[in-house]
Amino acid sequence: MLLADVVCGKCGSVVYQMRMLKPVKDALRQTNSRCRVCGAALNPGDFTVAVKRR
Ligand SMILES: [Zn+2]
Repeated sequence: MLLADVVCGKCGSVVYQMRMLKPVKDALRQTNSRCRVCGAALNPGDFTVAVKRR
């Protein structure tokens, strides 16, 4: 299974975890484009997506 962690670039928290590879915009829509931990707005350059194969 592929898991993709969307990681906040400011606080390093995993903002959203995707079970499948979805467009990142879909993930941001789930979180209103904001980090749920620190409240930072997530721009495409401000977060990283780490894909792990499990
Ligand atoms: Zn954050």
